[in-house]
Amino acid sequence: MNTIKKIGVLTSGGDAPGMNAAIRAIVRTAIYENLEVAGIFRGYQGLINGEMKSMKSHSVSNIIQRGGTILKSARSEEFRNSKGRKKAYQKLTKNNIDALVVIGGDGTFTGARIFEEEYDFPIIGLPGTIDNDLYGTDYTIGYDTAINTVVQAVDKIRDTADSHDRLFIIEVMGRDAGFIALRSGIATGAEKILVPESKTYMDNLIRLLKHDWRKNKTSGIIIVAEGDDSGGAFEVARRINEKFDQYETRISILGHIQRGGSPTAMDRVLASLLGYASIKSLLEGKHGVMVGQVNKEIIQTPFEKSIKHHRTINLELLEISRILAI
Ligand code: ATP
Repeated sequence: MNTIKKIGVLTSGGDAPGMNAAIRAIVRTAIYENLEVAGIFRGYQGLINGEMKSMKSHSVSNIIQRGGTILKSARSEEFRNSKGRKKAYQKLTKNNIDALVVIGGDGTFTGARIFEEEYDFPIIGLPGTIDNDLYGTDYTIGYDTAINTVVQAVDKIRDTADSHDRLFIIEVMGRDAGFIALRSGIATGAEKILVPESKTYMDNLIRLLKHDWRKNKTSGIIIVAEGDDSGGAFEVARRINEKFDQYETRISILGHIQRGGSPTAMDRVLASLLGYASIKSLLEGKHGVMVGQVNKEIIQTPFEKSIKHHRTINLELLEISRILAI
């Protein structure tokens, strides 16, 4: 029998477009199922501090199209130690919350797994991160919007690169994963894509640039993920200029524009489906899992697996991008 009467929902870690659409779906499905909902502000830190308010259907009106998160997000050092987590548990029991839905990335699920283990408290996770680096879902909420933002920016930069005969080295987000770089690189026809999953050989890169130059390619775009072993856009530019100064190079670090903005239709739909599924799963007695979508099916993956079995990029796509850029 279902004993859950009240749930708490929070967003944690880096914000991602589509988090609001997920909050909306969670709140409305929960209300439809006669559950009470507490919106917890500023992630785990807000939970420790008891920052929460009751949410009704109208609390989530007119937010599906908005970037960021109305619940705010934060990183919490306190939640990393057992004293902080004890405070969080006390706030949950004090407010009669029976289960949590957390929207975030791998750090958020690591914290959720530890908390569940310590207090046997039911938690369900939704993949909300632009990084797309979680196992158990084809796409994370926010990834599609982030890529489209990068594509729009790179298209604009290419106009200048072409008009002024310049080689632009554009750094995109991705400390550990090259998903954003790879997909946006393919979509913009980048000449080179540098990702952490594949070793970057600068001599090879320079050889290819020389080849391009001989073919009268006077401008170009190199997309580099921030976590690439080359050291990032500044280092790539420095090493190119050192050995081959025919190209006038420019650097562009796209930075935080990649996180914000109105979510794409794809992110809104994904967030809505996963938000709905998270409540249904909780009511079926599931917890300790992340809900995701794989091959159009909604599935649940234990936190442990979603974090540790990191998805790897499809290296074949990298090869295809090379062929298409000859
Ligand atoms: P993003 O992928 O966007 O960075 P994330 O969820 O990975 O999102 P983190 O800052 O890594 O973001 O994690 C969010 C929060 O989860 C942390 O601020 C911390 O409170 C909690 N957390 C992370 N790791 C642990 C851990 N080992 N133990 C307890 N809590 C943790």
